[in-house]
Amino acid sequence: MKTELWVKNGYVFTSEGFRFASIKIKNGKIEALQDCEIEPQKEYENNMIDAGGCLVVPGFIDAHVHFNDPGRTDWEGIETGSKAAAIGGTTTIFDMPLNCYPSVKNMVNLQNKRDYLNSNSYIDYALWGGMTGHNVQDKAELTQMSEGIIGWKAFMSDSGIADFPYVAPAQLTQAMKIAAEQNKILALHAEWQEEINSLTIFYKNQNNINERMAFLASRPISAEEQAVNTALELAAKYGTAIHFVHISSPKVVERIQQAKKSGMNVTVETCPHYLIFDEEDFLKTGAILKCAPPLRPREDVEGLWECISNGWIDTIGSDHSPCLYSMKNTTSIWEAWGGIQGVQFTWLALLDEALKRRIPLKKVLPLGAENVAERFGISEKKGSIQPGLDADLVLISLDETTVVDQPSIAFRNKYSPYENRTFLLKVKKTILRGKVIYDDQTGVTEEKYGQYIQPRK
Ligand SMILES: [Zn+2]
Repeated sequence: MKTELWVKNGYVFTSEGFRFASIKIKNGKIEALQDCEIEPQKEYENNMIDAGGCLVVPGFIDAHVHFNDPGRTDWEGIETGSKAAAIGGTTTIFDMPLNCYPSVKNMVNLQNKRDYLNSNSYIDYALWGGMTGHNVQDKAELTQMSEGIIGWKAFMSDSGIADFPYVAPAQLTQAMKIAAEQNKILALHAEWQEEINSLTIFYKNQNNINERMAFLASRPISAEEQAVNTALELAAKYGTAIHFVHISSPKVVERIQQAKKSGMNVTVETCPHYLIFDEEDFLKTGAILKCAPPLRPREDVEGLWECISNGWIDTIGSDHSPCLYSMKNTTSIWEAWGGIQGVQFTWLALLDEALKRRIPLKKVLPLGAENVAERFGISEKKGSIQPGLDADLVLISLDETTVVDQPSIAFRNKYSPYENRTFLLKVKKTILRGKVIYDDQTGVTEEKYGQYIQPRK
């Protein structure tokens, strides 16, 4: 049976920039790129997608989502989460080991989660493993787990999840050693718990200061700096590959850039919310924009875009961390769940912002595709548009807009800080391994084509 598909007349994003071209797809893989003047053979007429001058970019790889399955499906779930991701142009996610229940911190939980997700995802996925205060001493267990995970995730501060305790400073050495021995990347939530603890106690007792301001003040940039500095020092000593997730401050990115320049194996992620919203938005909006680290002053938002222009940020992940609305609608900001619901809008929001700022898309797109694939060892399959790779593609129109309203939200709980925003572009189609899984006219396919990605050894 022929499984060829052609995507013609698109501005295809390649390593040399955008090229007006047609893409020939065979058996789910990209077979060739060719100039549009060459008409595909007649026999392919029924397997032809006319991109009509849309941008055709690699399917986004979101290395940072919490889809909460199994165990907390009422917060999200693989079905709703992956559907929302597909609508937003994401074709691969790496699911975090916490916020599902139980957390992925032993082999049994890892295996159970893998079985549970099987044939329930619209898009491809890999799994993070959790290194915690509970299991960091259990080398045998961690060794067994390492073959099934894309990397390790650990917290240097409270995770907010009872069965995922943070790795205390005294345990960090062990975490670094194990990750290095296994040749696995250690992704870190880098905030310094001790500083947060004392500031939280202090600010909770200040009655003359607005509660939202108090929350911001309890998690300053200095807590990120302290954590990053400590981690870098240890990583240098043990040769550990580190990936700092959701860094919120340009100052901290610059520190990581210095480490990179000195030859360290380190990368840095930021998230769309740090590039779009600032602390004033949080003060106005409240819990829906509560996250950790918190939103920062506008000058830091601007600084992060400069970091992107400089090529200092490696990846962008949504850190989609959903919850029930009731968990946001609390009397005190301190009690509200920290996390942003945004997986569906990550790339619409970012590309919209980049276009407005006149930042070339070639500086931004790799942060959601090629860089992620390279860092996590899946670049032989994913992350760019070239022959031999999976045909994971997104068709984006710059002539249409996307309005975010409640009915358009596909993730489980229908609220998001992106609500009421209009983006000056639209995802027309999302293609996963040669299959159209989302079309803006007909929606997401019924079949769930998502496959588990076995990490490289
Ligand atoms: Zn997260």
